[in-house]
Amino acid sequence: MRTKVALGAWSIVLFVSACAAPTAPTARDAPPAPGWGVAGSPGPAVAGTGALDLTRRSTTDPGSTWVVVNKSHPLPAGFRPELGLVRGYQVALPAVGPLTRLLDDGDARGLGFKIASAFRSFGYQEQLYAGIVSRSGRAAADRVSARPGHSEHQTGLAVDLVTPADPSCDLDPCFAGTPGGRWLARAAWRHGFVVRYQPGTEAITGYRAEPWHLRYVGRPVAAELHRTGVATLEELFGVPGGGYR
Ligand SMILES: [Zn+2]
Repeated sequence: MRTKVALGAWSIVLFVSACAAPTAPTARDAPPAPGWGVAGSPGPAVAGTGALDLTRRSTTDPGSTWVVVNKSHPLPAGFRPELGLVRGYQVALPAVGPLTRLLDDGDARGLGFKIASAFRSFGYQEQLYAGIVSRSGRAAADRVSARPGHSEHQTGLAVDLVTPADPSCDLDPCFAGTPGGRWLARAAWRHGFVVRYQPGTEAITGYRAEPWHLRYVGRPVAAELHRTGVATLEELFGVPGGGYR
């Protein structure tokens, strides 16, 4: 679906998606959901993916840079990462330096990325999702927006990038064909980021392709995905995905 959303100083028509909305950290956090993963507990590994030890970090601890968040694996409602600032947007501390370097790298290449959305609180995601439900109904909303607790943006490790100098494909699947989108697909891994929602993986990730949505996982995992050609974190770590349970 398309909707009109104000992004800073300009207003554009964009797809409302699992991630497409400006950051507005205004939440009142609720208590953590019971049964959420224990810090430090390893996620299941996939054999034969190379030298990287995929059990080294947790895929369930929301503070882990390897955490897998999807429609099957929500975050606890009260989770709030430690945050730092990158160009005025809040991101999880481990991603601050890498994102700064990625944006600087893009600037040096004349790509001119700007952040459209970074960390979102539970309350903000709740507000965003409820707004779409009220306009379009729950079934339609679930196809384009994450329910609160299920958005990667709540980890502070996800960021949506746009190119204001060439905005026609901002937050649209056609971003994949722009110079910025092509460069991110090719080179974001060097900075420890992955394009999280790739074409043909909707049944696994729960979302259609979002070539503007980057997820920080750290260089070792990003390099492993790049090396093996595995497209999703779910497949790499052997974590279920798909729709809501
Ligand atoms: Zn996003």
